Amino acid sequence: MNKYDVVVIGSGPGGYIAAIRCAQLGMKTAIIEKYDTLGGTCLNVGCIPSKALLDSSEHYHNAAHSFEKHGIGVSGLSVDFSAMIARKAGVVKQTTDGINFLMKKNKIDVYHGHGSFESRNTIAIAKTDGKTDKIEADKVIIATGSKPASLPFITIDKKRIITSTEALSLDKLPKSMIVLGGGVIGCELGSVYARLGTEVTIVEYMDNLIPTMDADLGKDLQRSLKKMGMKMQLSTKVTAVKATTKQVTLTAENKKGESIEMKADYCLVSVGRKPYTDKLGLDNVGIELNERGQIPVNEKLETKVAGIYAIGDVIQGAMLAHKAEEEGVFVAETMAGQHPHVNYLLIPGVVYTWPEVASVGYTEAQLKEKGTAYKTGKFPFMASGRARASMDTDGFVKVLADAGTDEILGVHMIGPRAADMIAEAVVAMEYRASAEDIGRMSHAHPTYTEAFKDACLAASENRALNI
Ligand code: FAD
Ligand code: NAD
Repeated sequence: MNKYDVVVIGSGPGGYIAAIRCAQLGMKTAIIEKYDTLGGTCLNVGCIPSKALLDSSEHYHNAAHSFEKHGIGVSGLSVDFSAMIARKAGVVKQTTDGINFLMKKNKIDVYHGHGSFESRNTIAIAKTDGKTDKIEADKVIIATGSKPASLPFITIDKKRIITSTEALSLDKLPKSMIVLGGGVIGCELGSVYARLGTEVTIVEYMDNLIPTMDADLGKDLQRSLKKMGMKMQLSTKVTAVKATTKQVTLTAENKKGESIEMKADYCLVSVGRKPYTDKLGLDNVGIELNERGQIPVNEKLETKVAGIYAIGDVIQGAMLAHKAEEEGVFVAETMAGQHPHVNYLLIPGVVYTWPEVASVGYTEAQLKEKGTAYKTGKFPFMASGRARASMDTDGFVKVLADAGTDEILGVHMIGPRAADMIAEAVVAMEYRASAEDIGRMSHAHPTYTEAFKDACLAASENRALNI
C-alpha cells in the first residue's frame, strides 16, 4: 500500500492548492478525484466556464447594443451558440490540463476514483473499472466541495428543470428561461442568456437581488439588469415547478398573496449549494455533520479527529474558490508547524454581471447591527471621466469608514471592472488604511479606480474632488 504524509480528497481549488502547498513544504502528497478531470466545481462547472460564457455573451451584447454608439457598424451579427459552448469547453480543458501539469511539477500522486475513509489512516479509492485502490495517509484533508441545492418540492430532471451545470452546456439557445433564485448564479447565468436574447425572468424569495450583499448593490444591479431586458419577480414564494418534455411551469405567490403562473423552456434552479460528503465513509472515523450538512472544524480547520482536516465548500463560510484556496494553504502550513492566518472578513465577494458587483468587509446592515458608528462616502461612475469614455456609467463605489478613526470598514461597488478594483480595497483594509490614506494616494487618471479614491475622500472628509 502506498503511504503518504498527506492525502487530499477532492481536487477543487481548495484541494489542489492544499496539495501544492503541502508538496512545497516537503510533504509526500497524494490527491484523489472522483472525476476524470481535476479542478473541481470551479474549473469544470463553475467559475471558469461561467466566466467564459459571460465574456462571450458580453461581446455579443456590446456588438448588438453599444458598437453603434461608438461609431462602429456591424451587419449580419449572429450568435453561434454551439461555437460559444465549444469555446467554453476549450477554456475548461486548457485550465484543467494546467492542474495536471501542476500536480506533475510538484510530484503529487493523482488517483482517480471515489475516496472514502476505511479507517483513520486508510483511504479506499473506488475506481470506475470496479477495482479499489487503498492508500495510507498520516494526515488527510477533506476538500470534497458542494453540489447544487434544490427545494423539497422540485425534482431536478436535468432536462427542463436544470442546475448551473446543465445551464453551462445547453445545446440550443433557449427562447425563455425562469431563473429560480436571484443570487450569484441566478444573476450571472441569467445575464448570459438575457444578453443572447433569451427572455429571462428571475424569481426571488427576498425583496432584493444578491440579498446577502450590501442592499444598495442589489437595487442598482436590478436597475441595470432590467435595462438589459431581464424581468424580475421579487418577494415571490415559489410553490411548484413542473416539467413536460418541452416546457416548465412555475407557480408562485407574490407579496400581495396573488397566485402567479409562468411558463418557459427551462427553469434554472439556483437557490444555493449544499456540502458534498456522499459515500465518504465519515462514519468509519466518527465524524458527524452539523445541521447544515457541513463538516465541523475547529479554528485550525481540524475535524474532531486529530490529523483529519476539512476546507472549502464542505465546511462553514462563504462558498468561494478563493476562500477554499486560502484554507488549503492555511491547513498545509499549519501541518508544517507554521502559524498562518485567514482573515475571513476580508474575503471579497464578486458577481460577474455587467456592471460587475464587488464587496469586502462589513455591509451597512452589519455595522448597524454591531452598533458601530460609521461614515459613508459614495461616488457614482457617472461622474468618472473613464466611465463616460467607455459608456459604463452605471453604478457607484461606496466606502464605509469608522466615524471616529476613519478606518475603512467596508467597500461595496457596482460598476465597470469592480471585480478587479476590489483588490485595492482588500489591500487597504488588510493594512488597516483610513479612508483619508487612500484619498491621499495617487490613482492614475483616467481610470475607474479614481472612483474608489473619490469615495474614500467623500467618506473621510466629505470632500470628493470630482463631484
Ligand atoms: P469543489 O470545487 O466543489 O471540488 C470538490 C471536488 O471533490 C470535486 O471535483 C469532486 O468531484 C471531488 N470529490 C468529492 N467527493 C469526493 C470523493 N469522495 N472522492 C474523490 N473526489 C471527491 N466561486 C468563486 O470564487 N468565483 C466564481 O466566479 C465562482 N463561480 C461559480 C459559478 C458556478 C456556476 C458555480 C456552481 C460555482 C461558482 N463558484 C465561484 C463557487 C466555487 O466553484 C466553489 O466555491 C469552489 O469550487 C469550492 O472549492 P472546493 O475545493 O471546496 O470544492
Ligand atoms: P446564492 O446563495 O448566491 O443565491 C441563492 C438565492 O436563491 C438567494 O438570493 C435566495 O434568497 C434565493 N432563494 C432561496 N430559496 C428560494 C426560494 N424558495 N424561492 C426563491 N428564491 C429562493 O446561491 P447560488 O446563486 O445558487 O450560488 C451558490 C454558491 O455558489 C454561492 O454560495 C456562491 O457564493 C457560489 N458562487 C459564486 C460565484 C462568484 O463568486 N461569482 C458565482 C456563482 C456561484
